[in-house]
Amino acid sequence: MKIIHDLSLTELKRELEEIIEKMPRFRAGQIFNWMSDYATFDEMTNIPNELRQTLKEHYIDEPVKIAKELISKDGTRKFLLELSDGNAVEGVLMEYKYGNTICISTQCGCRMGCSFCATGIDGLARNLTAGEMLGEVLAINKHIGGTKADRKITNIVLMGCGEPLDNYDNVVKFIKLISDKEGFNLSQRNISLSTCGLADKIKKLADEDLGITLTISLHATTDESRKKIMKVANAYNLKELFFAIKYYFEKTKRRIVFEYIELDMNTNKDDAIRIKELCKGLSYHMNLIPINSTPHSVEENPALKPASKQKSSEFWENLKELGISATTRRTLGSDISGACGQLRRSSKN
Ligand code: SAH
Ligand code: SF4
Repeated sequence: MKIIHDLSLTELKRELEEIIEKMPRFRAGQIFNWMSDYATFDEMTNIPNELRQTLKEHYIDEPVKIAKELISKDGTRKFLLELSDGNAVEGVLMEYKYGNTICISTQCGCRMGCSFCATGIDGLARNLTAGEMLGEVLAINKHIGGTKADRKITNIVLMGCGEPLDNYDNVVKFIKLISDKEGFNLSQRNISLSTCGLADKIKKLADEDLGITLTISLHATTDESRKKIMKVANAYNLKELFFAIKYYFEKTKRRIVFEYIELDMNTNKDDAIRIKELCKGLSYHMNLIPINSTPHSVEENPALKPASKQKSSEFWENLKELGISATTRRTLGSDISGACGQLRRSSKN
């Protein structure tokens, strides 16, 4: 069966006209409106019963169900989200003074194989469809009392399970659907996409004319050190990656955000200097992240040795002296399988 949330309003109109004879034109709009509230077909009270039955025969109305919720001491809420084929992904809700940010998944698993990340251990099971990504947002918005008219979710980060640019078409469609004026109508400026650095896709994304923020998981400043922890560094070197990032910046003028795990090997003074060199010409911000528990031990991969507290604060000072804007990210929800991929894995065991 098809997921109804995979359809834009135009596509829904076209499909319904094929399925249903002499349907009034306004019906598709009514149904589309309900979909942004994440209403089930049974909850679509102004739709005639007969039509609701027909919809049930053709479409899935709840592509994502909340299977489990964990609430951290710091208020972060983590959700295990079940898809209609039984696969599961994760979503995280973070409440800030300015609104609610939700971190959603783009794939079940991931085939990028970064050595510090739990999501990639079993490889990629499958891509999520655009409607499933929409379902993640809408299910959580509804769960916390939001509707289309009264949105509780204000910001979205594509930073859960999976590599968004490895599921390019569905992710771009999702961004268009969630920001559709007739739909949930969330501004693209409030959406961030995080990638491990697929340079050719970054260039393609730049040409889409979207207003989203690009976040790059950098994690190292030389090809040699990056290859020790990220397989993707074998496919694209830093020169190619930064060429693509600069193209994105030139096209969009959006500030670039870098994610940077604080490791012993990547927090030297030379690293700070190289960051400045690599980022010449960009407007950017560094997000420093204390490393969360990893699937591989330091004995297995010495490159994963975390930076000491002193080393990371010296690194921050070095960046500051070079005029680089940097903050250390709060480790949210570390008591509830905080790192990406951990909850999903524990649910499978
Ligand atoms: N695939 C995308 C987005 C999902 S991963 C990407 O790699 O950017 C989201 C973020 O979590 C990335 O910045 C990733 O590097 C980081 N991450 C993964 N495992 C981590 C760990 N054990 N500790 C800290 N950050 C981790
Ligand atoms: Fe995939 Fe991102 Fe995890 Fe790397 S960090 S394995 S790209 S989800």
